[in-house]
Amino acid sequence: MKRILVTGGAGFIGSHLCEKLLNEGNEVICLDNYFTGSKQNIVDLMHHPYFEIVRHDVTEPFMAEVDEIYNLACPASPVHYQYNPIKTMKTSVMGAINTLGLAKRVRAKILQASTSEVYGDPEVHPQPEEYWGNVNTIGPRSCYDEGKRCAETLFMDYFNQHNIDIKIVRIFNTYGPNMNPSDGRVVSNFIVQALKGENLTIFGDGSQTRSFQYVDDLVEGMVRMMNTQRGFTGPVNIGNPYEFTMLELAEAIIEITGSSSKLSFRALPKDDPKQRKPNISLANKNLNGWEPKIQLKEGLIKTITYFEQVLNHQPNLNMIQ
Ligand code: NAD
Ligand code: UDP
Repeated sequence: MKRILVTGGAGFIGSHLCEKLLNEGNEVICLDNYFTGSKQNIVDLMHHPYFEIVRHDVTEPFMAEVDEIYNLACPASPVHYQYNPIKTMKTSVMGAINTLGLAKRVRAKILQASTSEVYGDPEVHPQPEEYWGNVNTIGPRSCYDEGKRCAETLFMDYFNQHNIDIKIVRIFNTYGPNMNPSDGRVVSNFIVQALKGENLTIFGDGSQTRSFQYVDDLVEGMVRMMNTQRGFTGPVNIGNPYEFTMLELAEAIIEITGSSSKLSFRALPKDDPKQRKPNISLANKNLNGWEPKIQLKEGLIKTITYFEQVLNHQPNLNMIQ
């Protein structure tokens, strides 16, 4: 049995990862400061004898004897990471330094949840790992993008300088149950709006593209990455290459929910990437043939079912739009 630390374990992705790691027979320590995560996401795990929760902020050092660390702590939605940009940068950079320091001390393997945002507004399409990106250093998204880029640098430096067994995955847009319904991300916004019969808020003309993966495919890829041999560091893209526009996403959600909602157009946020699509050949080659299994319609149906339950309990839910 391995003892595994998951920072950001009460968040959307972290909660699914904790559950998978417990199901595979590991002991899991979930560390979170509940900035965007919630105990509700992990309430079903709390009875598990090998699940432990720590309220802690990754900007402060933390000690525990663990075999593996998944570093996920960081707000991921633009609304939340821009709320306190200095704190976002500290979370990425200090969080990386503190978790890497812990990995060095206890000789643990450590995986960084990096992001497709390191490619910024990409001029190469689809994005392979060799592409260095097109990132604004001083814009509203920079606290997140540059924080995550700096964390990647720190991970490689700990590998090169201290031979720490590091892994970096670049996660592309992910959706599924346990998304925070009020964190302003497009999938949760559109689903909640459709279920409430409100207009779906399209930023810009809706022609910008993203490639969304269902959360189960992601956590499978993350665990496979952690289990690769020492020295295989990545970065590795983990995402679903099926690319579509935000208008197409809105139409799909309206169709599946059978909603009477219409579209409402808003200003496009500054530096919003125009296109994004992963090249996943490296993951496919090195992670035992990993590829996404759950396609958009199936994943949306599961996610819509989750949000129907959330709305049954909180019919007056207020969203950030
Ligand atoms: P989330 O906001 O649901 O989860 C982040 C978790 O980290 C939350 O539980 C939050 O409370 C916690 N956290 C934030 N700051 C912290 C701090 N200083 N100390 C301790 N805990 C802190 O977001 P998510 O979608 O689950 O994302 C998880 C990770 O994956 C993030 O690192 C994010 O950058 C990365 N990622 C996510 C996506 C995506 O589409 N969801 C895409 C790329 C990368
Ligand atoms: N978006 C939108 N309506 C919303 C929320 C987001 O049209 O209510 C757009 C947003 O401008 C972006 C895309 O959807 O082009 C994905 O946004 P999200 O915040 O989910 O992720 P990110 O921009 O970080 O990829």
